[in-house]
Amino acid sequence: MNQKTYIDRAEHVLYKTYNRFPVVFDHGEGVHLYDTDGEEYLDFGAGIAVMGLGYGDQELNDAVKAQIDKLYHISNLFYSQPMVEAGEKLLAASQMDKVFFTNSGTEAIEGALKIAKRYAHNKEMGTDYEIIAMKHSFHGRSLGALSVTGNRHYQEPFEPLIPNIRFAEFNNLESVKAWFNEKTCAVIMETIQGEGGIYPATEEFLKGVRRLCDEHDALLILDEIQCGMGRSGDMFAWQGYGVRPDVMTVAKALGNGVPIGAFLACGKAATAMEPGDHGTTYGGNPLVCATASKVLDIFRQRDITGHVKEVGAYLWEKLETLADKYECIEAHRGKGLIQGLEFREAVGPLVKNALLAQKLVLISAGTNVIRFVPPLVIEKPDIDEMVCRLEKAIQATMEQTI
Ligand SMILES: *Cc1c(COP(=O)(O)O)cnc(C)c1O
Repeated sequence: MNQKTYIDRAEHVLYKTYNRFPVVFDHGEGVHLYDTDGEEYLDFGAGIAVMGLGYGDQELNDAVKAQIDKLYHISNLFYSQPMVEAGEKLLAASQMDKVFFTNSGTEAIEGALKIAKRYAHNKEMGTDYEIIAMKHSFHGRSLGALSVTGNRHYQEPFEPLIPNIRFAEFNNLESVKAWFNEKTCAVIMETIQGEGGIYPATEEFLKGVRRLCDEHDALLILDEIQCGMGRSGDMFAWQGYGVRPDVMTVAKALGNGVPIGAFLACGKAATAMEPGDHGTTYGGNPLVCATASKVLDIFRQRDITGHVKEVGAYLWEKLETLADKYECIEAHRGKGLIQGLEFREAVGPLVKNALLAQKLVLISAGTNVIRFVPPLVIEKPDIDEMVCRLEKAIQATMEQTI
């Protein structure tokens, strides 16, 4: 059956909350995807920063299949070996004290917000405590996560949301300081803003926010859902800054496509919630935990962060050259394998051109930024190939808009 037929059937059944690109993917291999007509695509989107190890990693796939045949669900009323192992490995990689496994990034954010609320409750702060979040942030679409997502367009149709969220300017310490008072119980932010346009926190900003949280006995929650799991060149982006959060969230690349997220806490945040305060039926079941456990093994054994540092620097050079060459490119930001090029115009047509004419999967961040979040196992020749296809797409798009 051809792609058009599938697309028509999809539009008939699926609730319309997405405008999808007209491609039906069938299978993947390494850093390539193939559509149902057998056409090959180079993937620099990685399923939105998820497929860190790429597609079809035999060692990982074997581990997932073995766990399916053994046991894949038992609920959280019992213990399982994969959960213990994934938990130990995640704590070792993150220097945190406790972990709770979730089904998604959004649910990890919900858990982190509940720690903040419980922490305020334990301190008898009443019910009018405040949480500081950032403008242009993204933390998810559930009502709690949406409440701290600094995007009016996403929030407005679903109000009222959680009250007393104060939005500060990212990388502007004074604007965070201005919101701090005795009612502040937590600050939540991404270490590198993803959806908002790829903005890494400056060292001065992150250290300053950490200091403000310490002075006011407030929790620092870092959202590492997109920038974590090696993407920045450090296992978690905050590790490159020399600060430690009280709570952090992880998801996306943790399960390499198998749905798993987690919130982790240390110190006083690790004991804020009590038995009965939180739960999940699927969260951290043996299937997803065996997968995450193997992903974490592979990260260590193959030195994925070392590889990201090397190819990330190469991608940086190549994108700098592009930014110098094309007037339509206004800025270049990022770190490791989470980089962005900001264009003068909306990048929708360019992304579509790259995908359909050049067989290159790219995704945007906001309206004007192309985000480069390829599988972490990408090699330098893949980057050369991407740049070649991207240039052709830029030229074709410029011709169309003139
Ligand atoms: C994707 C993302 C989320 C939401 O994760 P889901 O798995 O889609 O629920 C939250 N925060 C950040 C920074 C993200 O990139």
